Amino acid sequence: MNIGILQAAGTDNTPEQFGNWQDVRDTFEAAGLYYGDSLRDRIEAVIDVLPWQDWDGLAADVKLAKEFMGATKLLTNSAKLNKGRSDGDDYRTIGLYMPPASSGRDMLRSIGLQVSDNYTLCPAATAGCALACLGTGSGHMNQGVERVASGQYDWDLSNVQRAQAKRLALFEAHRRAFYALLIKEVEAAERADRKAGRQLAVRPNCTSDIAWERQFPQLFGLFPDVIFYDYTKLHKRLLAPAFLPRNYTLTYSRADGSVNHDRAEQVLAAGGNVAVVFDTPRKGERGRNGTLKADAALPALFGGVPVIDADLDDARFLDPQGVIVGLRAKGLAKADLTGFVVHTCIAGIKDKVHADARVGCPGLSVITADQTIDAFIHGDQNLRQTIPSILRDAFKSTTTADQTIDVPDYLLYRKS
Ligand code: SF4
Repeated sequence: MNIGILQAAGTDNTPEQFGNWQDVRDTFEAAGLYYGDSLRDRIEAVIDVLPWQDWDGLAADVKLAKEFMGATKLLTNSAKLNKGRSDGDDYRTIGLYMPPASSGRDMLRSIGLQVSDNYTLCPAATAGCALACLGTGSGHMNQGVERVASGQYDWDLSNVQRAQAKRLALFEAHRRAFYALLIKEVEAAERADRKAGRQLAVRPNCTSDIAWERQFPQLFGLFPDVIFYDYTKLHKRLLAPAFLPRNYTLTYSRADGSVNHDRAEQVLAAGGNVAVVFDTPRKGERGRNGTLKADAALPALFGGVPVIDADLDDARFLDPQGVIVGLRAKGLAKADLTGFVVHTCIAGIKDKVHADARVGCPGLSVITADQTIDAFIHGDQNLRQTIPSILRDAFKSTTTADQTIDVPDYLLYRKS
């Protein structure tokens, strides 16, 4: 990848972060810019809080970004993003896929950019989530367990990885051109969806965790009718909603580690939603009776909080508040044993061991080990086969219900 074209364009003097959402919102509202104006009108009216001198400056940066990106778009759609709601609402979602956490660091260095050793797009990533991340471990983005475990990523593996890398290179090499192209792509998508009678939703962190409300708050004001939404592990973003744009919805993302779990509790206590990944099988995976024709049911409760099935769609902005947003493990996450994925041991089995998994979540969980062990020992063979190998090995030496086995905290369950 040659970033010479960006360097030749001169200095990108866009500040790292500029303004806060409230300043930007006040500016936009004072200018009466919430509904109906053309993008150019909106841009020109608030040019003082944008990193361009005028409309022509933005247009020049769009041109520069397009020259660098070629056919690659910043915002794309995917089957997951485009799952619609069953209630007939017509949404279309596009999102930004970049190399997650620190996975793009060496690639940036290889094209001549200086980045620090602790460079990351996900400041609150955990060991487990980085290993299991969709951005390097699922679907077409799957780099394979060896690359992910060793940190030796290949950003030339396919068009998908090349596109992720190009977006990050533009973001780091010429932030202003990145913003310009982002604005143009959102505008084009919104225009197309308006014509088609659809509502546009944008997920700017499909595989990253950038606080966009601080990084580029102008985006939300320029597109007041577009819905923005994200998952995040930066809990403070949810605990200070006054600083969130009104058209930006966040869902906290549970991962491994007690720090994350404490934060998940805080978010729930504040009325926010927490996403939890379960080992519940998906359609096409082996369950109790062979291959499942439909996704197995997620637990009904987690830590006493109702679980909704977030694999039915990606429309997190329509979720009720104060719920667990349940997801099934995908890609490399299916092998997770860090505690990032909640092992429910209900794989494909209804009404046997209930769906209230109590795993490694202090405060969210009440662990009753006796019942757990009892459930496993008397559970049927198929149930046992779904248990991660660490637990299965423990069973080999266990013959009666009275025996206890040493089970790691994150693998404890309660039979209800
Ligand atoms: S914080 Fe999210 S996007 Fe970042 S590495 Fe973890 S799971 Fe992936």
